[in-house]
Amino acid sequence: MVLMTNYNIFLKKGKCSYCNNPVVIERRYSGENLCPNCFEKNIEKNIYKTISKYKMLNSNDKIIVALSGGKDSFTLLYNLSMIQKNLYNPEQLIALTIDEGIKDYRENSIKNAIEICKELNIEHHIISFKEKVGLTLDEIINIKKNLTDYKYACNYCATIRRRLLNDGAKEFGGNILAMGHNLTDIAETFLMNILYKRFHLIANQYLFKEENSRVNQFFIKKITPLMRIPEEEIFLYANIKKFNYYPSHCPYREIDPIVRKRVLDFIQECKKYSPEIEFNLLNGFLELSAILYNHDEKIEYLTCQSCGYPCTNTSICTFCSYLKELNQ
Ligand code: SF4
Ligand SMILES: [Zn+2]
Ligand SMILES: [Zn+2]
Repeated sequence: MVLMTNYNIFLKKGKCSYCNNPVVIERRYSGENLCPNCFEKNIEKNIYKTISKYKMLNSNDKIIVALSGGKDSFTLLYNLSMIQKNLYNPEQLIALTIDEGIKDYRENSIKNAIEICKELNIEHHIISFKEKVGLTLDEIINIKKNLTDYKYACNYCATIRRRLLNDGAKEFGGNILAMGHNLTDIAETFLMNILYKRFHLIANQYLFKEENSRVNQFFIKKITPLMRIPEEEIFLYANIKKFNYYPSHCPYREIDPIVRKRVLDFIQECKKYSPEIEFNLLNGFLELSAILYNHDEKIEYLTCQSCGYPCTNTSICTFCSYLKELNQ
């Protein structure tokens, strides 16, 4: 694979806490100093331990990995393929990429996604917005951007992509959908959901839902094995592993004045003074999602009148309401 960034530039003064080699990372939240080799092993152990601690996988699971082509999804795919190869059945792993139709961005990252699947010998499928909902994300934004009810690209994108990933995973026979969300993503999403009082979303993300709940008949189980690794460590790991991931961010992230970006900046600022803050947010999310899920289960879910999926507070789900707006 092509080396994206030579990790030697990350080397620091000082010795590894475990083997005395030069240090590549000083973890302020744990007090450890790690050399590249110990860091790599530590990240892989972290992923394995997260899967095992939260009982994310069983031996006969068929895993669909959401593969965008970025550093997180590469790290996830590589590690799951190693875990499957060594412990379970490597054929029970499929990569799924959603092509939202974002010009000068997604077509590039898809090339990297195709390449890693070839290298790891993993079955790979691509599903596009255009083929499933008739419009690319760029076309959706062009239609909506000057209208008063415009809700920013990420709202349309995330809602449609979530549904296509879920339905695609079911179509390819999966019972587990593995997502590359890292600790920073989870902390940021949790804080966003608190700020907007989206308690039903926090409840929906609960990790230990009952297998036979009505909601689970529609939505397949999602797992997030990278959820205890901060984003900057995934970046370092992906470079040490020399993954040829696509390094750029989506252009809409920069264009749209979304609160999410400010929330992320706020967390980064807090981390300077309180390095463990993201872990506190993760633990807060795990505890609160359990409380809210068990409370929410007592509430009757409504059924979307258009697609039949469960929805929380309206007679039509968000996915169908966007499609309806776009077809008017
Ligand atoms: S940043 Fe927003 S628009 Fe871009 S891929 Fe992510 S959710 Fe979609
Ligand atoms: Zn070491
Ligand atoms: Zn619907």
